[in-house]
Amino acid sequence: MSGAVNFKECGSVLVTGASRGLGLQIVESLASGGFSPGKIVATARNPERAQKLQELASKHSNIHVIALDVVSQESIEKAAAEVTQLLPEHGLNCLINNAGISVSADFNTAFLPLLRQAASRGGAGGSRSMSIQRAAVINISSVLGSLELNWKAETFNKWYPYKASKCALNMVSRCMALDLEADGILCMAIHPGWVRTDMGGCEAPLSPEESISSTLSVIGGLTEKDHGSFLDYTGEVLPW
Ligand code: NDP
Repeated sequence: MSGAVNFKECGSVLVTGASRGLGLQIVESLASGGFSPGKIVATARNPERAQKLQELASKHSNIHVIALDVVSQESIEKAAAEVTQLLPEHGLNCLINNAGISVSADFNTAFLPLLRQAASRGGAGGSRSMSIQRAAVINISSVLGSLELNWKAETFNKWYPYKASKCALNMVSRCMALDLEADGILCMAIHPGWVRTDMGGCEAPLSPEESISSTLSVIGGLTEKDHGSFLDYTGEVLPW
């Protein structure tokens, strides 16, 4: 298998979230296969509680267990310093960002009962069509959250956290659209353009007034066909 050969030639691998699940399995498979990398850095946020990982490390001398909580900058820097000591000459060949949590949440709190109340009354003249006159959730997103347009946004290349959060917001919009369709609540995401605010800076082409007058006119005209959509402030459909 070509993958096996490639790992054999890989000097070092770092796996996050190696305490259990897929991360632990990655470490185990790498360590016990006939294609083990020189050094496997198995990180876990609480290594002392990661019993299976510790057992595995005691059997394979190329596994190095290091503490790493991926949401703590302090922990990241400490781990990076330890890994630097461990891999002084060749650096790190392969970083596997595996750690993750699954969180499920819905919107059955706060404003949803009020939106449902409005939706059940219908829009203008009791209309059952979706619109802001009936009930709608508008998520102010950004073109920077578009995966497809990412290649064209070189100026903002380093905005990883912002782009990721807007990309996530787009997914939330789609989930809400699916979830709230039966209630008749229109859900969509809109990009207000690049605007001269504290965030947008003085080079942005649009004034807040220009952006918002156009954005509001798009929002005001939303209909059933826009449910679950991603539009810009001119009403153009944006790719996800
Ligand atoms: P598990 O819930 O089984 O394991 C999650 C791992 O991530 C644990 O080792 C956990 O450590 C660790 N972790 C969570 N938060 C942190 C943190 N802040 N710092 C360090 N480690 C952390 O998940 P899976 O193994 O199933 O998933 C692994 C990856 O694969 C995730 O990124 C997930 O999104 C992705 N994925 C999984 C799929 C699946 O079907 N399982 C499908 C598609 C993607 P601890 O023991 O300390 O909690």
